[in-house]
Amino acid sequence: MKALSQSCVTLPPHGVREIMVRSAGIPDAIHLEVGEPNVDTPPHIRQAAVEAIHGGYTRYTHNLGLLSLREAIVRFLNRRYGVDLEVGQIVVTSGAVTALALSLIVLVEPGEEVLIPDPSWPDYEQKVLIQGAIPRRYELKPEYEFLPVISELERLVTRKTKAILINSPGNPTGAVFDEGKIKEILAFASGHDLYVISDEVYDLIVFEGKHLCPMSYDDEGRVVSIFGVSKNYAMTGWRIGYAVTPLRIAKVMEKAIEPLISCASAISQKAAEAAYSGPQDFVEEMCKIYKDRRDRVFDIFTNAKVKAFKPKGTFYMLVDLSEAGLPPGEIALRLLEEEGVAVAPGNTFGPSCQRMIRISLATEDADLIEGAHRVCRFIERHRLH
Ligand code: PLP
Repeated sequence: MKALSQSCVTLPPHGVREIMVRSAGIPDAIHLEVGEPNVDTPPHIRQAAVEAIHGGYTRYTHNLGLLSLREAIVRFLNRRYGVDLEVGQIVVTSGAVTALALSLIVLVEPGEEVLIPDPSWPDYEQKVLIQGAIPRRYELKPEYEFLPVISELERLVTRKTKAILINSPGNPTGAVFDEGKIKEILAFASGHDLYVISDEVYDLIVFEGKHLCPMSYDDEGRVVSIFGVSKNYAMTGWRIGYAVTPLRIAKVMEKAIEPLISCASAISQKAAEAAYSGPQDFVEEMCKIYKDRRDRVFDIFTNAKVKAFKPKGTFYMLVDLSEAGLPPGEIALRLLEEEGVAVAPGNTFGPSCQRMIRISLATEDADLIEGAHRVCRFIERHRLH
């Protein structure tokens, strides 16, 4: 039989999913690997979905999404970020994951290059590869607060580079871009005529200061911003995300979304509308909880002389296990086997993170604290003395 699509067959595996599957068979495992809030979606959002079901929201919607949802998003973003968006710039999708895929489909041809962060969420590399484009990784180093360094980007850019993907607040680093960094990246993109795909799905989860939107500094129309409700409103299963783009790009997305998903679920769109139009105290409360957990867990690692990196946003923390002296591919598996703790293996985020793990702060307090102690015990046992 003829071969399957090589770009799919050769796709690198998703390390977080692998650990989730393995740990599912271990009854008392502590789960620090998953990238989703450990609480249920707020009641007023769930109620909006129930009303949508009974109110006839059971059909296809416009390709770009329900007008009422897009209006709610525009009101929210304009108010929060001082931008001046119009409704035609919002493209609603099934999760931010589809907004990212759609952006790459619309902006990048097969064979062209896309700059992606190292470390970064594994889906970026998979997405670029699946459409026959070439990912080029730029390193985010702890000594530069995990922020992109322009000289490194300059070294990587070629005539074939079409876009740069940025992510702030960043998964798995927790880094948050400041104004200076955003301006530097936009100047770099402008200098090489690149599109900027800016993944901002953790925009409301920032512990110090406030998230800044690259699109509000973009006067050339080269930024496509990606947002979603999964992380901010504990809505991972509802599958709603969206792209915010210059109108000329949105018009092409409107065509390209039809053969991809046609539209996002109407019921979930009504739920997302309630998230954006309703009270925001849930997000503020969760942010406080994540920050408190971050500080407590960071202290546990510091006291045990384990190197961890304090995130400025998101609900993740990177922990350096290089002192354990184990082969990079084995660290997360051994932690699961020996201590019953499931963590995201660093190597799935890129080569720079081979000897790290990522833990999720979106975990019940008791489990998180116990999990952190077990990670320390594991390192102590394997430490190269
Ligand atoms: N972007 C980043 C950086 C993520 O970590 C994730 C999910 O883990 C997503 C996008 C996808 O979000 P969604 O659930 O909206 O598809």
